[in-house]
Amino acid sequence: MFNKILIANRGEIACRVAATARRMAIRTVAVYSDADANAKHVSFCDEAVHIGGSAPKDSYLRWERIIEAAKATGAQAIHPGYGFLSENEEFAQACLDAGLVFIGPPASAIKAMGLKAESKRLMEKAGVPLVPGYHGSDQDPALLKREADRIGYPVLIKASAGGGGKGMRAVEKSEDFEAALASCKREAISSFGDDAVLVEKYAQRPRHIEIQVFGDSHGNYVYLFERDCSVQRRHQKVLEEAPAPGMTQAMRQQMGEAAVAAARAVNYVGAGTVEFIVEQRADGSMNFFFMEMNTRLQVEHPVTEAITGLDLVEWQLRVASGQKLPLAQEQLAICGHAIEARICAESPDNNFLPATGTLHVYQKPVCTNFERGAVRIDDGVREGDTISPYYDSMVAKLIVHGQTREEALARLDQALAQTHIVGLSTNVQFLRYVLRTPSFAQANLDTALIQREEALLFKQEPVGLALAAAAAIAQALLTEKAAEGSDPFSRRDGWQTHGVTQRRFEFEFQGAPAQAELRYLHDGALQLKVGELSGPLWFTKSGQGMDIEFAGQRLSVAVYPRGEVDHVFTARGATQITAIDLLAHAGEGQAETGRLSAPMPGKVVSFAVKAGDKVSKGQPLAVMEAMKMEHTIAAPADGVVQELLYAPGDQVVEGAELLRLAV
Ligand code: ADP
Ligand code: ADP
Ligand code: MG
Repeated sequence: MFNKILIANRGEIACRVAATARRMAIRTVAVYSDADANAKHVSFCDEAVHIGGSAPKDSYLRWERIIEAAKATGAQAIHPGYGFLSENEEFAQACLDAGLVFIGPPASAIKAMGLKAESKRLMEKAGVPLVPGYHGSDQDPALLKREADRIGYPVLIKASAGGGGKGMRAVEKSEDFEAALASCKREAISSFGDDAVLVEKYAQRPRHIEIQVFGDSHGNYVYLFERDCSVQRRHQKVLEEAPAPGMTQAMRQQMGEAAVAAARAVNYVGAGTVEFIVEQRADGSMNFFFMEMNTRLQVEHPVTEAITGLDLVEWQLRVASGQKLPLAQEQLAICGHAIEARICAESPDNNFLPATGTLHVYQKPVCTNFERGAVRIDDGVREGDTISPYYDSMVAKLIVHGQTREEALARLDQALAQTHIVGLSTNVQFLRYVLRTPSFAQANLDTALIQREEALLFKQEPVGLALAAAAAIAQALLTEKAAEGSDPFSRRDGWQTHGVTQRRFEFEFQGAPAQAELRYLHDGALQLKVGELSGPLWFTKSGQGMDIEFAGQRLSVAVYPRGEVDHVFTARGATQITAIDLLAHAGEGQAETGRLSAPMPGKVVSFAVKAGDKVSKGQPLAVMEAMKMEHTIAAPADGVVQELLYAPGDQVVEGAELLRLAV
């Protein structure tokens, strides 16, 4: 076994590989770009080498530099992760030439599976079922069109060199073919530098089911069952699960054997995935066809780990160091059900525009022992890290396991609810909506699921104004209590010498203004009115958040204030509410009277002026603390300070005159 490896990747997969290496007492070398100088994967590895600028072509794709780094640090092998150089046969060969082990298949296998059209020709010979289509090398547009007409519509035009869901066009009818072909070729040349395409039948109610295979250098092969990755958006995976719902033992074996035949045909070694498109016919029958082979560890490999109890990176390391596969086919079994959700920095309500920014809050669900009904997070970021524009938008993978699909599904929903991210938009809430659609809940899967359920997936409001406002107010009161180190209830008693105290709150919610009124009752209870709803407000701190009850609803919530915006997370979903700073407008309309009074109860923190000072309009006079923030009270007009009516530390009631100003 190796004693040191270099990981030629970043983010979650670099951390994932490093975790297994550490467990196996193998030292790790990270590589990093400028943008990743402080990234998690860098601190996670034993040593790290800077390899260049932030853009992938200046760092993670510079394979000469990476091989140099491996030689310089004494690493014996290179793990490429996924993406970047993982499916680059020149890199795999260059590693060998430099005397390093490439932790992946032989360069020849990468090459054979690299182009979709050529791999299909190979698979045809190996007897693996193919989608009816044309994958010849003659690219004459008229011929391609004739082939499409022969295959019958709808068809899919695919860039042979394509990947990551790019370079594909579905064509509904013959008249649309030429335009789609031209646009597909344009995308293919710009994304992959190769505009060769293939044409295939667009499967009916297609499901994406893939088989994890493994080979060793002694000619042994196994399949580690299937993953269903049908839930996609623009041909990119959103949720992945194993096993595939509805899979029969017979079909599993057929698909597994076909996948092993595919791997065997190219003398495959290591971890690979054979992707199939499964057609679901009206009569209930299912037919599977080879789509492509991904010659690397896949993003969704953890669901296979969850149902088999195996560590696929450990297997990769063993096989790469020349060992035999740890288990034979008959020793492998499926236990329970696993689902993975890809948490991405993007705005579902804004056409999934990728989001960048800082993870001001990154609160993760509690991860539990993975073997026994569990929650696992694979990520490459920590709270405070930045999601930069240079790399892909995946922030983390959340993987759950349960005895049954229902259990896994419920656990995933719960774990997503416990994932609190503030600082950039993510698809967390969107993923929860997808889970709850009738199609997903009933395992009525196909690649059009998201489109079909669109009405349930966007612009929903899981938490209404009443609860959002109640949560924001409760949070403000708790923060005041923490700031004072005293019980806000006892503080309120003090104010009651002035009668029943009221506080007014102004919010912005869903783009509309909203008001709330809080009354402190004589018995210490709170009465809240938000819009038409009125009733007692009760809350108590609980763990990371609080339990709150208002308007007949009781809920656990976590509120993270950022500036004026409160980010509210509940089991039901997340929302935002803006608390408008009333005190910022305190001076307005008071200039004529020359009095400056507190518009709500709070504490005087400090005065910036003393009696006799000349002040000009807008100059800060005093700082008050109310709600959860400090508020500066500014002079509404030029004038002279006559008298300060309170001292720092004093509690003041709403309407109390703080100082007198002669204007
Ligand atoms: P998986 O099949 O493992 O889920 P994806 O298709 O989601 O893989 O791709 C995994 C990673 O590799 C992603 O970061 C994706 O952007 C990248 N990737 C995959 N294929 C290509 C490609 N041909 N060119 C560039 N990046 C790719
Ligand atoms: P990539 O290299 O981008 O992953 P694939 O060939 O694996 O490309 O196809 C990506 C996705 O496109 C599949 O997961 C599936 O959803 C859809 N797809 C591919 N081929 C077909 C087909 N013949 N019929 C229907 N859908 C297909
Ligand atoms: Mg694919």
